[in-house]
Amino acid sequence: MPIPGQLNPPVRLLLGPGPSDVHPRVLTAMATPLLGHLDPQYLVLMNETQEMLQHAFFTKNRLTIPISATGMAGMETCMVNLLEPGDKIVVCVNGFFGGRQAEIAGRTGASVTQLDAPWGTVFELDRIRDVLSKVRPKVLSIVQAETSTGAWQPIEQLGKLCHEFDTLLLVDAVTSFGCVPVKLDEWEIDAVYSCTQKGLGCPPGLSPVSFSPRAGEAIAKRKTKVQSWYFDLTMVQKYWEADRFYHHTAPITMTYAIREGLRLVLEEGIEARWARHLTHHRALKAGLNALGLDYSAAEGHQLPQLNAVKIPAGVDDLAVRKKLLNDFGIEIGGGLGDFKGKVWRIGLMGFNARAGCVFQVLGALEQCLQSVGCKVTPGTGVAAANKVYAA
Ligand SMILES: *Cc1c(COP(=O)(O)O)cnc(C)c1O
Repeated sequence: MPIPGQLNPPVRLLLGPGPSDVHPRVLTAMATPLLGHLDPQYLVLMNETQEMLQHAFFTKNRLTIPISATGMAGMETCMVNLLEPGDKIVVCVNGFFGGRQAEIAGRTGASVTQLDAPWGTVFELDRIRDVLSKVRPKVLSIVQAETSTGAWQPIEQLGKLCHEFDTLLLVDAVTSFGCVPVKLDEWEIDAVYSCTQKGLGCPPGLSPVSFSPRAGEAIAKRKTKVQSWYFDLTMVQKYWEADRFYHHTAPITMTYAIREGLRLVLEEGIEARWARHLTHHRALKAGLNALGLDYSAAEGHQLPQLNAVKIPAGVDDLAVRKKLLNDFGIEIGGGLGDFKGKVWRIGLMGFNARAGCVFQVLGALEQCLQSVGCKVTPGTGVAAANKVYAA
């Protein structure tokens, strides 16, 4: 066979729902020669990573580790460890990823009660209180940053509420971690999972998870074995604890990546990082609004790192995204599920939450919108963003 050419992908700016561009320092760390997964020096790197993760999650949870796979594996890890056949779970569904939680929960044999809300909205505490008091579930699960709609679910009071009913709170923080506050201990979150390729500025490949002592007890009290061997925390945990019992070969290079990604988070300061995401979101939002694009999530509940806007009537979704990619090298996301063909999703995550990205996408989008017949006053998007930065 002819040998395929040497790897030479085009240069892209990844402003979709993830992956986001990898920070150059993370790429450099990933070119570091391997250590063995039981090398004493590698174990030091594991401990450092774990400690930085605890810091970034605002938790003392001992069971805070990166699972060796992407965000979905974190979702699955939480579900299969917390749930046994016959257990009750309430899943809050107001978008695509809430739907996935319900699907995976159902596969564990748990009895799933789905609480639905329209896409783009968030759940009120009273509605959740109501369902908790009726169902009395073992677990309540919810998505903090619903990437399919751009909605930002408030969860600060949710843990306390769940604990009134002896319910464990499980939170999807895949698109929130590293971008907006996620405070496990203060907010009484029992289980959380995230990823590396969105807010942390690393490639996809790890899913940081954390479990409260309460969740740990629930897992220890199981009557049946965890259905998944690979994601069985009772075994995975032993590799991360003192006995370093071999479970699977750790993805060493990804540990280098997340370690550098977390070092960047701590160097910048977690609060400063959240503030940076907000600043560039405000500029982007002003620009998008000036171009005639409205957000799909309710006002006051819009994620800074994931800007989902409605595609104007009559505008060809694919034509615009194709032109953005081919002429400008910019990737943005289309809609998922109910929002397919109806929204564009523009991510400003981690390394990409910066002014250069805001101006590139606003400038390019203006040209793409004009090319499909939208009336846009030249320069309005960029001018509106500049105004926000100046203020
Ligand atoms: C991206 C995403 C996931 C899935 O993560 P993968 O890394 O793609 O496996 C889960 N939940 C939410 C909210 C996401 O945005």
